[in-house]
Amino acid sequence: MSRALVTGGAGFIGSHLVRRLLSRGREVVVLDNLYTGSYENIEELDGAGGLTFVKQDICEADANAFFKAYGPFNEIYNLACPASPVHYQAQPLGTALTSIKGVLFSLELARLSSARLLHASTSEVYGDPLTHPQKETDWGNVNTIGVRSCYDEGKRVAETLVADYVRAHGVDARMVRIFNTYGPRMDACDGRVVSNFIVQALQGKPITIYGDGSQTRSFQYVDDLVDAFELYMAKDTATLDGFFARHNLETRVLNIGNQGEFTIGELAQMVIAKIPEANKDILFKPLPGNDPRRRRPDTTLARELLGWQAKIPLDTGLERTIEYFRGKCAANISNSNKEHKR
Ligand code: UDP
Repeated sequence: MSRALVTGGAGFIGSHLVRRLLSRGREVVVLDNLYTGSYENIEELDGAGGLTFVKQDICEADANAFFKAYGPFNEIYNLACPASPVHYQAQPLGTALTSIKGVLFSLELARLSSARLLHASTSEVYGDPLTHPQKETDWGNVNTIGVRSCYDEGKRVAETLVADYVRAHGVDARMVRIFNTYGPRMDACDGRVVSNFIVQALQGKPITIYGDGSQTRSFQYVDDLVDAFELYMAKDTATLDGFFARHNLETRVLNIGNQGEFTIGELAQMVIAKIPEANKDILFKPLPGNDPRRRRPDTTLARELLGWQAKIPLDTGLERTIEYFRGKCAANISNSNKEHKR
């Protein structure tokens, strides 16, 4: 049976990926320290067969020991890293180290296992982009010493390590630059814009817009992202190498995101319109440091290579996500009723 490791598998995106892999008959090992992930996200899967959960900090994991205990693997997905600004800025040193040590652990394990590796990178490698929409060939406009740098630069070094492991050790790695992603099982308290707005609206609280709300983001529903992971991992190495060389990219990196671009003000209005109990008041707050002004992926390469395009419009995805939070709200949002300030 094919075996997969998902680091960060108890997180929002990880838990969707784990479900998909199990549904394809894979045996899945999840490594997660539950700093931002939650056991609740995978609890119903544990014990049903096929899943092994290992609670461990990836920074302390040793690839040789892990290989002996749980390997070998056919596929490794490296998703372990806090990804919301509130969380990654709360532990900046830990964030940078998780990116760097986590990818080294995953690369070593891939080398030991001769596994195929998918590394989850981020649109944050573009920083506050100078080009629009962002193509994979954009080298980024990133502050090395700002409040977002622990994440942005940590993720940039991680990409460098992947590229060098591909060149030096022939590891079969591929990278995805993930643009803003949302959906069920987002953490209600992680301070991200989609979860904040929905939870605020369901609770009849004013919607908090940082800055004047004219900054833009492209919002991708999580199922579209998992589709792309699956298609990308199914591609053989020779096809990838030829494809990326033809596009002047030194290694295998793809933008994965939705093409739609919305201002944060527009997103607030969409959420308010979908939630009858929403308070229509907007509370404007200062824009956090180094907050990118615009962000939209150019996904031409993913379309050409994988035949992939994000399918789920924001309207539909928001409705599904609102349903999820409505259920959560009834159950326990009242316990975690904290507004995140930055
Ligand atoms: N944002 C906002 N109100 C909130 C949370 C976020 O206006 O309650 C803004 C934030 O300043 C940023 C955008 O929404 O411009 C997206 O923020 P998020 O933290 O979701 O992701 P990222 O900044 O990493 O794209």
